[in-house]
Amino acid sequence: MEKKRTLNFGAGPAKLPQSVLLQAQKELLDYSGIGISVLEMSHRSSDFNKIINKTESLLRELLNIPDNYKVLFLQGGGSGQFSAVPLNLIGLKEDRCADYIVTGTWSAKAAKEAEKYGKVRVVHPKMDSYTKIPEPSSWTLNPSASYVYYCCNETVHGVEYHFTPETNGAVLVSDMSSNFLSRPVDVSKVRRGLLRSLRDGAAYSSLNLCAGVVQFGLIFAGAQKNVGCAGVTVVIVREDLIGHALKECPIVLDYKVQVEMNSLYNTPPCFSIYIMSLVLEWIKNNGGSAAMETLNKQKSSIIYDIINASNGFYVCPVDSACRSRMNVPFRVGKKEGDEALEKKFLEGASKRGMISLKGHRSVLLKYNPSDV
Ligand code: PLP
Repeated sequence: MEKKRTLNFGAGPAKLPQSVLLQAQKELLDYSGIGISVLEMSHRSSDFNKIINKTESLLRELLNIPDNYKVLFLQGGGSGQFSAVPLNLIGLKEDRCADYIVTGTWSAKAAKEAEKYGKVRVVHPKMDSYTKIPEPSSWTLNPSASYVYYCCNETVHGVEYHFTPETNGAVLVSDMSSNFLSRPVDVSKVRRGLLRSLRDGAAYSSLNLCAGVVQFGLIFAGAQKNVGCAGVTVVIVREDLIGHALKECPIVLDYKVQVEMNSLYNTPPCFSIYIMSLVLEWIKNNGGSAAMETLNKQKSSIIYDIINASNGFYVCPVDSACRSRMNVPFRVGKKEGDEALEKKFLEGASKRGMISLKGHRSVLLKYNPSDV
């Protein structure tokens, strides 16, 4: 009989579909009849080449990624991209400045890292707490910024964008580490007519000046939350943004080098890429990103409905307009949490086979301006 599995609520590394784990187990000693494991396979072999190419094509299919975007599978995690993004993009414009929308721990960390390489501006007034997205009308975007950065789902604080920031044509960079493939994403909003002119050779730089036309410049996401296990980070980057790295950019983080080498400049995390391919196949067979969105709406509203109906017994501090469908922070007993009750809650959950429900206390802490 199949063993009942523990219910793992961890944000990431997170639960994987059981069929994916079973397939990985089945293929662990002998991948596809070749007599060795993916763990033992050379990243230069034709077998691994097939795995990485299949992973990329599944990703392209699931997210409908246009041809003028490159897909990379890198190491270093989301945190590595906090450095790689400014190292590759802050030099796009002479002034070397970047605009950051800071809505939680992860975008604050990214902004702090970027300060090493250029001028960083937080585009909105300081907030008291990370419980909402500052009103877009309060943002002052710098027209000479090399890019505008935001974190699409702040994992710790449970703040998620349910819209895509408008940047007046500036390059938009998104950390989607914790909501990647949890819903469809319009990677590029190039209109039909413009697509035609792109095919006919129009320069992207001139298109970028058209407000609301070209959307994402770069999206990155660590795999361990929604699309696999730790070790690999996906970067989807628009072609025209490649080749502008600062001279001090470490070679393994240089998008141009990695694009030219099909993510194989150095040994990639082969097994993590293989696991990603299995998860992507699972997503495809289960209805793709639209089906994932329906499921995530259903799952998160079960919890939010209980919170809303609890008369203040469960408290979610996040503004209802930007509550995350991926991470639901809540306190038990009262607004600032009743520690004894929360302990009891976690013990009760654990007895019922539910783990990793303990969140971060920082959810209710005041915004600390020294974060950025
Ligand atoms: N960005 C977000 C939204 C995250 O949730 C995390 C980690 O949880 C990171 C970045 C950092 O990722 P990593 O631990 O892979 O460096």
